[in-house]
Amino acid sequence: MLNLKHFPTAVPPRPMGSYAHIILLRETDSYALFQTDGELNTARVRAGQQASDPLTRLTIFKRKQTTPERLVGRELLRRYEIISGEAHDDKAKALVDKAGRPICDYNVRFCMQCPDCVTYGFAIGDSGSEKSKVFSDTAYSITAYESSHEAFTLNAPYESGTMSREGVVTSRINEQDHVRPQTLFPSIITTRDLTSPLFMYVLNNVLRTRRYGAQTTRTGTMTNHLVAIVLADGEVSSNLRLTQALYDSLKKQGAIVPAQPIDPQTALSELSDLLPNLLDERGGANISQMLRGKGLADFLADLDMHKSEAGTREMIEAASRDSKAYYSAYIYNDKKGKK
Ligand SMILES: [Zn+2]
Repeated sequence: MLNLKHFPTAVPPRPMGSYAHIILLRETDSYALFQTDGELNTARVRAGQQASDPLTRLTIFKRKQTTPERLVGRELLRRYEIISGEAHDDKAKALVDKAGRPICDYNVRFCMQCPDCVTYGFAIGDSGSEKSKVFSDTAYSITAYESSHEAFTLNAPYESGTMSREGVVTSRINEQDHVRPQTLFPSIITTRDLTSPLFMYVLNNVLRTRRYGAQTTRTGTMTNHLVAIVLADGEVSSNLRLTQALYDSLKKQGAIVPAQPIDPQTALSELSDLLPNLLDERGGANISQMLRGKGLADFLADLDMHKSEAGTREMIEAASRDSKAYYSAYIYNDKKGKK
């Protein structure tokens, strides 16, 4: 079971070094788009830590990972009536709705007190900001860009089904690169100084989020396979090192065949196996618990928030009590100068 004593009972005002790392293998379930200016994001890096040849990898920037996860959490906060379903009204300037729920308008006016505001942070012009207590980084595909993407021609034919009319070919043809299904991205999400309910809130968001990247109704679904939860007194490995180490060990096994997807189950068990050596670096953080394999499966199966709406509500309400306590103690006082 997860050692809940590791987590502080209240979010402290200054960093206290209580880290929890969520280690994931993100797998695309359909054609996804992680792009800037119409081009898929890529990076040219060393293939492995042992394999020294360079490799162009697909990348998912930090925001493209955390934003959808935040939005899933915020949807639940509205469903379980922690925050209002209303948007901020410039004229009325109300802070709460008729039922007394805080109005938290994403990137417009944050309420500063809900679990989303306190865990992921916010910035509101000159009226205040809160640093994120959830850290993530660019994720890299294990396999090369060349074998992990596909170019689609998206065309919009005339009603007759043809691409030409009166001898003139339509220009409504668009070519777009997509990330292939079953492309794997190892990823670490780090939380610092969250109470256990606020950590569970973040974990729940990660496990529930299915849609990432630029979306149409048919693309962009992804599964986040949870590989481990690691409790420590500092930061552990980076996404790139994790990806390179996994590449080396999969290659050794002959599991990397150009132009073929990697078997996700092979990658999952390999990643779990190499974590103890990879994270236990000399001079690195002290790890107090590494929950993986059967221990992790038992822990997840036992969570009330996965069993029923009542369980989810309980988790959300506990997280909300902790975020409100932090707001009352350190945000409300500081910013308003009164209480
Ligand atoms: Zn909020």
